[in-house]
Amino acid sequence: GTTANQSPVTGPGRTADGHRVLLQANIGSPEDIAAALAAGAEGVGLMRTEFCDSYAEVFQAFSGYRVTVRVFDAGSDKPLPGLSNAGEPNPALGVRGVRALQANPEILDAQLRAIADAATAAVAQVWVMAPMVAHEQEAAWFARRAASHGLTATGVMVEVPSAALTAREVLSHVEFASIGTNDLTQFTLAADRQVGALAHLQDPWHPAVLRLIAQVCLAGQALGRPIGVCGEAAADPRLACVLVGLGVTSLSMAPGAIADVRAELLRHSLDQCREMAKSILE
Ligand code: PEP
Ligand code: MG
Repeated sequence: GTTANQSPVTGPGRTADGHRVLLQANIGSPEDIAAALAAGAEGVGLMRTEFCDSYAEVFQAFSGYRVTVRVFDAGSDKPLPGLSNAGEPNPALGVRGVRALQANPEILDAQLRAIADAATAAVAQVWVMAPMVAHEQEAAWFARRAASHGLTATGVMVEVPSAALTAREVLSHVEFASIGTNDLTQFTLAADRQVGALAHLQDPWHPAVLRLIAQVCLAGQALGRPIGVCGEAAADPRLACVLVGLGVTSLSMAPGAIADVRAELLRHSLDQCREMAKSILE
């Protein structure tokens, strides 16, 4: 946390030499709005909708900013009746995320319709993204489905290694990607994020995870697509600098983490961030 004798730094996210990095909030319910606004969040990088469908309220609160809505990510750690299958032998690898939506397209359509309706009335810029994408065809399917509701700012979460390794193909179908480092770490290290005994392996500093992130950033740069991070890694001030050095353009985190990340970014130039990234990758 911020120590009491430090005066808080405010304003948009940037490095010491002025390279802009969007600092956004993760929102899981309308109760998070006040904290996000108080922290000076530059919009919402991840609106989790599994337990929150107050689209209009969130869009209203972030008028003039971008709100990135993730459609239902059912299954495993987020069981949703009617969308996820109880009793799978390995729920983290089961019918979840975009897979569950492909099995129940009417549910995705209803959600996209509700988001589109709320977006029409809002001044916020509404982006939508699909969770747990593993294959470029899932990205293409989601983008078509969203466009049929007038939602054209479409993206994917990159949180499965196959999506990171094929980021160029995946990104060719959508406008942006947001890296979910919680699941990306879980799947890269084959360590269930819900098993406490494996917590030491849930480590986004692992070079394997960072090399995957570097690949996604290179693909984003090649195709001109912004690449965000919305997992816990974005909330670690030192790792946030490394992510910026890898080419990440926005960081989304719990509102309480924004102040420390903002302050740490201001202590390093973009070149210093790149140097940190380079040495960690090696
Ligand atoms: C992630 O996987 O990093 C992520 C942001 O999504 P969630 O934690 O909701 O799975
Ligand atoms: Mg995830």
